[in-house]
Amino acid sequence: MMLSLLLRPRSRIGAGPFNRLRKGIRLKVPMAAPSLSAIPAPAIHPPLTDSHGRVIHDLRVSITDRCNYKCVYCRTGEMGAQYPELALDEYLRLIELFVGLGITKVRLTGGEPLLRRDLVELVRELKRLRTLDGEPLDLALTTNGHLLESLAQPLKDAGLNRITVSMDAVDAATFERITRIEGSFSKVLAGVRAARAAGLMPLKINCVLLRGFNDDQIEGFARFARDEHVVVRFIEFMPLEEGRLWTPEIVVTLREILDRIGRTLPLVELPPREASETARRYTFSDGVGEIGIIAPVSQAFCGACSRVRLTSDGKIRTCLFSQVEHDLYGRLRSGASNDELRAYIVGTIRGKEARHHIGEPGFLKPSRSMVHIGG
Ligand code: SAM
Repeated sequence: MMLSLLLRPRSRIGAGPFNRLRKGIRLKVPMAAPSLSAIPAPAIHPPLTDSHGRVIHDLRVSITDRCNYKCVYCRTGEMGAQYPELALDEYLRLIELFVGLGITKVRLTGGEPLLRRDLVELVRELKRLRTLDGEPLDLALTTNGHLLESLAQPLKDAGLNRITVSMDAVDAATFERITRIEGSFSKVLAGVRAARAAGLMPLKINCVLLRGFNDDQIEGFARFARDEHVVVRFIEFMPLEEGRLWTPEIVVTLREILDRIGRTLPLVELPPREASETARRYTFSDGVGEIGIIAPVSQAFCGACSRVRLTSDGKIRTCLFSQVEHDLYGRLRSGASNDELRAYIVGTIRGKEARHHIGEPGFLKPSRSMVHIGG
């Protein structure tokens, strides 16, 4: 029963509405002469379109798989970094190739991206890039916030648009039990406030909920969203941990979260801002504050996925749950030209998986866990 609930997708590849989700990239297409209007125009796809018709415009780049936290649901606490990191100019060259093919949004992640000493410089260099429409990139960062207090303003000044801070509890004791780092809660809270003061708004807080771990924090987070003027987004736990913790029963589903909050603070659903938005958004009945729920398990959104990932060692992953990786950096190192690298990216994205298979019989965990992929 639980499993069948978990398997109901929100949208399906190939389903009618999916075709309306395409976000076009402006291409120069000659106008057809009126006399030829009866001839069907060939389908025009931006370069980064997969074989299921999804346009990929969102690149997530892990710049390290080191992390200064050992969150109990993510890491075993015994494994350190597993993969090498690239030099700043190598990330830049690879990202520039993606941008030249239609990527408009880049999110830097890890591991913990604030551990990279050259992060501010990377952001500054990325801000110089232009999309196919000639616009600056939409530049975002995901961090645990531990080192954010002193870096928020320099990151904003370098051109970062938005930040998402991961926080899995609003009470200090629970937070420190999860991160396994003493004093972590006050550091992250200071980081959140510094990011807000720097104008990195809207500031999003991501919280992964696990039954029996931190689901007692739901109502506290709803209040936190209002008090701290942040958008709190609850995320369903996915089987992406280093150990073997995941079961369908440990997932706190969207429905349950809504019911729990709704009992004390009535919620009103907000319309999606874009088709590929992963979070369902809600405000409170007085219109103050926002929460979001990201439900990749109980209401998968693969049909609207617009993402591709680059790991810290330069491999393309076309899905969080990919069993295979595509060694873009290996090709760069062996002297491939930009044209060859671009062709490799386009071909790899064509083969993007239709969807994940969480909870289905025979499901295989991906070849890397979240901290080593980049969330
Ligand atoms: N260190 C950064 C941070 O803490 O945000 C970036 C990397 S971290 C792996 C990215 C996000 O993935 C965090 O919000 C984390 O909570 C989330 N995450 C980790 N394991 C997860 C899992 N099994 N299911 C869902 N989200 C997960």
